[in-house]
Amino acid sequence: MGSQNVLDSTESRIAYSYDATAMSPQMPLAAVRPSTPEEVAKIVQLANEQNFPIVPRGSGTGLSGGAIPLENSIVLLTNHWNRILEVDEENLTVMVEPGVITAKLHETVEKLGFIYPPDPGSASICTLGGNVAENSGGLRGLKYGVTRNYVMGLEVVLPTGEILTTGGKSVKDVAGYNLKEILIGSEGTLGIFTRILLKIIPRPETHKTMLAFFSSIEDAAKTVSAIIAAKITPAMLEFLDNTTIRCVEEYAHLGLPVETEALLLIEVDGRKAVVDEDAAHVEEICRRHNASQIKVAATEEESVRLKVARRSAFTSLARVKPTTIMEDVAVPRADLARLVSRIREIGKKNDVMIGNFGHAGDGNLHPNYLTDERNAAEFARAEKTVFEVEEAAIEMGGTITGEHGVGLYKKRLLEKMVGSPSMKMMRTLKTMMDPQNILNPGKVFDLKPKCEGILPRKREEIKKFEDVAWI
Ligand SMILES: Cc1cc2nc3c(=O)[nH]c(=O)nc-3n(C[C@H](O)[C@H](O)[C@H](O)COP(=O)(O)OP(=O)(O)OC[C@H]3O[C@@H](n4cnc5c(N)ncnc54)[C@H](O)[C@@H]3O)c2cc1C
Repeated sequence: MGSQNVLDSTESRIAYSYDATAMSPQMPLAAVRPSTPEEVAKIVQLANEQNFPIVPRGSGTGLSGGAIPLENSIVLLTNHWNRILEVDEENLTVMVEPGVITAKLHETVEKLGFIYPPDPGSASICTLGGNVAENSGGLRGLKYGVTRNYVMGLEVVLPTGEILTTGGKSVKDVAGYNLKEILIGSEGTLGIFTRILLKIIPRPETHKTMLAFFSSIEDAAKTVSAIIAAKITPAMLEFLDNTTIRCVEEYAHLGLPVETEALLLIEVDGRKAVVDEDAAHVEEICRRHNASQIKVAATEEESVRLKVARRSAFTSLARVKPTTIMEDVAVPRADLARLVSRIREIGKKNDVMIGNFGHAGDGNLHPNYLTDERNAAEFARAEKTVFEVEEAAIEMGGTITGEHGVGLYKKRLLEKMVGSPSMKMMRTLKTMMDPQNILNPGKVFDLKPKCEGILPRKREEIKKFEDVAWI
């Protein structure tokens, strides 16, 4: 790769020692920047020969610790590998390199009259490789689905160093086992994506955006169920609670009524006649469920402004305390109000400040625990809250992660969530595909790493780094 693509200065190693998860950083031995699948394959082959772990990395916006390095590991960077190689308007596909930023793909295809629907809140910075590895969702999940629904083909370097391609432009393809589906959402543990073929769809003719405010969370939750029961599928159906509304208003000054308990951001899209009819119907449903105020965007500018309320939720909450733990639980959507009140109870009991927002239409909530990792007692209370909320989600027939993945952060509850036979099958699959346990070992579940690291550096060096005031 050339020595310019091997980054092993202390500064580089610090820069690649963490992701967006509130977890302790860990310095890698080095970060490497390959530019072809063949180079990736050679690095993986070397890792098998010399026994060192490889941690693939996109932009490091992951919220479950997937890109946090392991001791004596090499971080394999992909974010410089960022070309859109082809837009095929006849087959409705795009071929991209893994480091393309999601929003760049959005802009490119929108100019041509298409959309690529998955739009994680981090779209302006995360990579498509990271999106496929996490099977990321986003604001348009209810109507359009998640990343998985748009991946048509993959070129992957396997943990043994072989290069595999799976899927293609053919819409129908049932030849053999569907390997693509196993690789999507594999969190960098089963392969490194080097090219991705994605589906795009024609851009809807128009859309209408509104914000509806409620003085009770139950009313907001009932509105969500009533909209779905009315056979309307909005493109966005998002929720913010009172703490989040207050923080957003303080940050973005949008004129939001800060005394309201809940806000729903609703967007319907499609043909103009249908959009007008659906928007009117949604408005009527909101009023019927005691919405205290409804703001409907009259122009595209206003629509963008209304969406700022939701898009700035995390940033606004993150200003309140030094550490923000963004959670990601999901339950059947009819249980959303029950989940919110359970989270409030748990937060009150543990004395932890929580701001809730999320994808109400998907039953996917992001409680944000606002804490300070420098205060051990306070941080321990926040971690206890995370654990109890995850358990509550499981009890309610939901999941410990709707879209952020298991990584390091959620693996302690995975077995309880999926059951022993599933865990056994996942471990068997990993061992079969990655016999040396080279690729992102210890993520998703524990499997004793066989690799010790080629150049085990002295523990003191890592210790020295840990002593740096790190906030
Ligand atoms: C403010 C904020 C908002 C967010 N909103 C959302 C949201 O709405 N929906 C959502 O789903 N997520 C959201 N996320 C989480 C995160 O952005 C996504 O998980 C995203 O897909 C991660 O992409 P990345 O490029 O940053 O990947 P990284 O964090 O670098 O890596 C994530 C995982 O993917 C693996 N990986 C990365 N690239 C590759 C590759 N080429 N091949 C194989 N494995 C690879 C890594 O090993 C790691 O396990 C949000 C995060 C933040 C900080």
